[in-house]
Amino acid sequence: MTLPFEPVPAEPAKPKPERPPLSALGMLITSNIELGVITSRRSLQATIGASEVGYPCARRLAYRLTATPGCNLGDPMRLLIGTGVHLALEEIHHRLDRSAGRFLTEIPTVYRDIPGQADLLDTYLHTVIDWKTCSKDRLAKYTKDGPPANYRVQLQIYAAGLIEAGFDVQQLGMVFMPYDGALSSTWVWETKPDPTEADAAIDRLDSLRGKAPADVPATPDRLCGYCAHYNPASTDFNRACPGNTRKEPVQ
Ligand code: SF4
Repeated sequence: MTLPFEPVPAEPAKPKPERPPLSALGMLITSNIELGVITSRRSLQATIGASEVGYPCARRLAYRLTATPGCNLGDPMRLLIGTGVHLALEEIHHRLDRSAGRFLTEIPTVYRDIPGQADLLDTYLHTVIDWKTCSKDRLAKYTKDGPPANYRVQLQIYAAGLIEAGFDVQQLGMVFMPYDGALSSTWVWETKPDPTEADAAIDRLDSLRGKAPADVPATPDRLCGYCAHYNPASTDFNRACPGNTRKEPVQ
């Protein structure tokens, strides 16, 4: 049969460009960055902080409470982006403030012995702000389902600490900014100060004190890859946890 057109031959699949191997200079640069990240104040913080108290997995908290050394450093790129955005936003608000005292940034907080650092307090709006960087995909999930519990607990712990310290806090804002999107895609979740969720999370934390991690139930989820104690090959659950990659041993 004669075709009424000249068939166009299918284009051969283009081979994926090969990534050139990291040079000696590249390895030196990236290892310096990794060293800087793992020796940062945040990474070396021995006490459990406000950003951790609301983790859904109790075993993850037990590792922190028992000061078990971490084994999963993970890639620091997202952390670097988040840190950079926080620094930039701190500088912007510091400059806009011009010593008026409206914007207070990076304020140390303590609530029920849990230390934290609130990103921003707008003293004119009596509002505590927490910056969150995320991908556009995560942002779509947060706008649909709301922020995860650990984020809400963190913000309420900041607010409770600031109120205890005498600040007039009436409103809270969690500001989600996509690192792969536009500023106009920013979404702000708003709520009022209410220590109920923070208190429940701190009560749960207190109930885990003195317990060995292996004796504490694990709740594997998508965050396991970011858990400092994640090791898929682990059989000693007091040192590391396999997440959902292996079955729990029969006790
Ligand atoms: S790896 Fe996952 S399940 Fe195990 S302690 Fe960490 S967060 Fe929990």
